[in-house]
Amino acid sequence: MTAADVIIVGTGHGGAQAAIALRQKGHEGSIVMIGRDSVPPYERPPLSKEYLAGDKTFERIMIRPEKFWADKAIELRLGSGVSEIDALAHCVTLSDGSRITYRKMIWAGGADPRRLGVPGSNLKGIHYVRDKRDADAMMQALENGAKRAAIIGAGYIGLEAAAVLRKLGCEVTVLEMQDRVLARVAGEELSRFYEDEHRRQGVDIRLSQGVSEVIGEDGHVTGLLLDNGETLDCDMLVVGIGIVPAVAPLIAAGAAGSNGVDVDIYCRTTLDDIYAIGDCAAHANPFADSAVIRLESVQNANDMANTAARAIMGDKEAYHALPWFWSNQYDLKLQTAGLNLGYDATVLRGDPETRKFTVVYLKEGRPIAFDCVNTMKDYVQGRKLLEAGVEKIDPELLADAEIQLKEMA
Ligand code: FAD
Repeated sequence: MTAADVIIVGTGHGGAQAAIALRQKGHEGSIVMIGRDSVPPYERPPLSKEYLAGDKTFERIMIRPEKFWADKAIELRLGSGVSEIDALAHCVTLSDGSRITYRKMIWAGGADPRRLGVPGSNLKGIHYVRDKRDADAMMQALENGAKRAAIIGAGYIGLEAAAVLRKLGCEVTVLEMQDRVLARVAGEELSRFYEDEHRRQGVDIRLSQGVSEVIGEDGHVTGLLLDNGETLDCDMLVVGIGIVPAVAPLIAAGAAGSNGVDVDIYCRTTLDDIYAIGDCAAHANPFADSAVIRLESVQNANDMANTAARAIMGDKEAYHALPWFWSNQYDLKLQTAGLNLGYDATVLRGDPETRKFTVVYLKEGRPIAFDCVNTMKDYVQGRKLLEAGVEKIDPELLADAEIQLKEMA
């Protein structure tokens, strides 16, 4: 049995940043990072963008060069996950049967892709995009000649994959159950803009469209049966229908949580000495009027990692970080500041026809989020407004793109 001072479960964004922050803050005890991934920590966003497109190599998406971890005396236990936690004994069991005791644990397990549940879902040629192996499998399928891609789910991952696959010359059809793309995360203006853009780029976007079955031949996907009875041929299926927090061992050990695992303002779970951060951590977010939510973003994983590391070092500071997010599709750079949860009005700044505009989300007259498409200045200044806790702003003023947001503080 190995003994570690701090173990970090998960070698993704949150886990990597937690280890980095602990060392930066002078933590001298042993740190063991345990990860199901078999390669050192890397960035996930490029998996549906530059890495998938072949524009960035794996080396360029590594969070730190491989040697960094050894230099900082951070032990990486790769290729095996934590399957069991004995919270009383402060001990974990790994899937390879080994056991490690800990003084403190940071759980940064992220999430697993939500799986398709229709008949045919086990056929070969169905791709989820969560880790490097998934992206590599898609790239391999393309190399093997896949040309007709169907994508289920028009969230960020589905649309980003659509943009890359178009660029690589595939025929692409996107099937979405809702009546607009990005329905879970964005307002109507942004959805319609992205629908138009994808159609202009040659993507066949089908809204309010469910799938009844994945059809195959010789064990490989060849098409889809849609719920309107139509069939759609494809030689590659990409599924981006959301994620399921990877917290089963924590919950089995007694941690509270129904949508992921519950954490307090210092990222502590209800189990002694166990913190949780990132995609899997349900927390009361100050930028969502303290609603209990999970955020699926690099910002949240990194900032929670810093909060947990600080708390372990005895320098407790409540988690308070403005949420931000980005998505790259074609030449469109979307940057989001804040959370639009519960918005009751939107204001459009600029003209979508120019491919440069901002959607401002208001709640009782107060800006709570900005979706900025190729409008970097609005993003930077919008962030400052939100961080300063701006109150009501006249919507007519907001709509005037000639007036800078910083002048409205
Ligand atoms: P992850 O980075 O997912 O890391 C979790 C790790 O834990 C994984 O390696 C997993 O294998 C491991 N693990 C799980 N269970 C166990 C266990 N029991 N034992 C050991 N290891 C375990 N966010 C943005 O802000 N902007 C973007 O443009 C963007 N694009 C994205 C594109 C893609 C394709 C994906 C998949 C995500 C994207 N995200 C984006 C989201 C962002 O990557 C995540 O929010 C972020 O990675 C969350 O960090 P995390 O540490 O919580 O989880």
